[in-house]
Amino acid sequence: MHVIEFKDEFDEDTGICSICGADTNLTGWNEEKGLSRFECESCGAIFIYDEDYNKTIVKGEKRNWEKFMTENMTFPFNGVIAEAQGNIFSEEKGPINYGDKVIVKKVVGEDDLYGVIVEIKLGKKSYDFPLCDIAALDEKSANYKILDNYRVWFANCQ
Ligand SMILES: [Zn+2]
Repeated sequence: MHVIEFKDEFDEDTGICSICGADTNLTGWNEEKGLSRFECESCGAIFIYDEDYNKTIVKGEKRNWEKFMTENMTFPFNGVIAEAQGNIFSEEKGPINYGDKVIVKKVVGEDDLYGVIVEIKLGKKSYDFPLCDIAALDEKSANYKILDNYRVWFANCQ
């Protein structure tokens, strides 16, 4: 019988880090046991997936996003509302709409459903608003990448 061996050859494969939302890279593969190992360049987490895509976190632990954002993002910063708000079938518009430019002032808490809540300023008024619906305006800022990763994490891993 002819046996096919794969050895070290595998396709470039990426996944989402369930700790921080950044891209993870496939760094190892065990053909015999059907295990693949992914590492996150951003936070250093290591995951092992089995043949059935069950994931085991080998390194890294669940992030306290409220604390992390408070410590790692720079406030205030300019943001833009990046998700449609409210009921799309309703004629009524809320005070905050998709595409509005806002100033994100600080983290004010965390909600079970909406995640990290921030205080934003739109015009002369301040509101509490979910951070997952906001993108940073300056694409070159550290805030932009941190927030982008958080939004990917929020949409996929929460
Ligand atoms: Zn990560």
